[in-house]
Amino acid sequence: MPRKDTKMFKKILIANRGEIALRVQRACREMGVKTVVVHSEADREAKYVRLADESVCIGPAPSAQSYLNVPAIISAAEVTDAEAIHPGYGFLSENADFAERVESSGFVFIGPRAETIRMMGDKVSAKDAMKAANVPCVPGSDGALSEDSEEITETARKIGYPVIIKAAGGGGGRGMRVVHTEAALLNSVVMTRAEAETAFGNPNVYMEKFLEKPRHIEIQVLSDQHGNAMYLGERDCSMQRRHQKIIEEAPAPMILPRLIARIGRRCADACRKIGYRGAGTFEFLYEDGEFYFIEMNTRVQVEHPVTEAITGIDIVQAQMRVAAGEKLELRQRDIQSRGHAIECRINAEDPYTFTPFPGKISFYHPPGGPGIRVDSHIYQGYTVPPHYDSMIAKVIAYGDTREQAIRRMQVALSEMSVEGIKTNIPLHQELMLDANFIKGGTSIHYLEHKLADRGEAKEHGVD
Ligand code: ADP
Repeated sequence: MPRKDTKMFKKILIANRGEIALRVQRACREMGVKTVVVHSEADREAKYVRLADESVCIGPAPSAQSYLNVPAIISAAEVTDAEAIHPGYGFLSENADFAERVESSGFVFIGPRAETIRMMGDKVSAKDAMKAANVPCVPGSDGALSEDSEEITETARKIGYPVIIKAAGGGGGRGMRVVHTEAALLNSVVMTRAEAETAFGNPNVYMEKFLEKPRHIEIQVLSDQHGNAMYLGERDCSMQRRHQKIIEEAPAPMILPRLIARIGRRCADACRKIGYRGAGTFEFLYEDGEFYFIEMNTRVQVEHPVTEAITGIDIVQAQMRVAAGEKLELRQRDIQSRGHAIECRINAEDPYTFTPFPGKISFYHPPGGPGIRVDSHIYQGYTVPPHYDSMIAKVIAYGDTREQAIRRMQVALSEMSVEGIKTNIPLHQELMLDANFIKGGTSIHYLEHKLADRGEAKEHGVD
């Protein structure tokens, strides 16, 4: 039985592009919500643009003039009478000023309150808030580092080397420096500070213990405006290159459910404490049975489908219901996880050098079959523009067990055909056969080490 959406929006504007614009559009169409899609000149031909009830071109290809153009997006919402704006991920999704502008212009921002985004956007204040909410954090400095050299040296001694210096305003894996010895400490702090000032306009840096072999484990939360907060289990996103995730899975292999339940409850409590609204993710490093908070993402994540696959909850629709002021009908006890799901991010790039490879797709055959979901905006004849992120598709494989999910992913990748451009499908195929991945539980450094070994093997003529 379709539910009655008494408060649901009639029309929303999607301020994003690519697969997530299509994902949000699908959620809306299923709920009977009309969509307005804004797009750059480069995305005029995208299929979701044609499928939208209305579309507005907001500027030329470069993001700064289109997907980051706040006045153009707000006026598109005004002329089309949209009630709410979904920011997707990336672009303006974690921009507190944008969220504020959306709401002060009379629209609903589908995400948390601007002040929450602002608090979580500064990693020092995010960590402070988490400590106050009893969420365990990586041992480190108390807030931002002072200018006092002796104090900095003393802090590092107390934490113990190696340490990592991180920019409070950092993001996207940038603004971090690992320090192994006291001799290198002060210089590293000065350099990270200078880089942080230039890149993020905020010179504040802080110090953490550098964990040597952690896994990246994150907790998905969902919270409404009526004090009802819950966690939807965890995801393991340890397969990373340059701090960018490429494979994600749920649940995380070999972590006891009671450990997940304990950290999950803390996250849900923290949501209640800070008055969190919508979907969000608490990111942790996990080492030797302990979780250490590193940051919170206040938006839907690329890897949300693996959680949807094992819980049966549509996270994007839940975001919209919360934003519309509905009370979530779900309670923590209703969240049941079943089976296992794995996501491979398919990028338009050379699988060996990782150089982006935009261009025209001359032939496309997506995979299918039981347990396979493909979230992608591409089609045969589509031209991948060079201006944006290189991700062109997400393949999600679901199975009763992790083994079945891996086998289904292997079959899916062997069926998938994208010609005319290069993609990282061969890398994913290699990883789906990798003995350590199959065993499960690899650390965040695993892929980098494997790629480095592969490079050396090539240099020495070994295949
Ligand atoms: P960003 O916002 O730039 O993604 P994060 O704080 O989430 O920054 O960290 C990104 C990645 O950097 C983590 O997934 C992990 O690989 C690495 N990292 C961050 N902090 C530490 C730490 N204390 N020890 C070891 N690795 C870390």
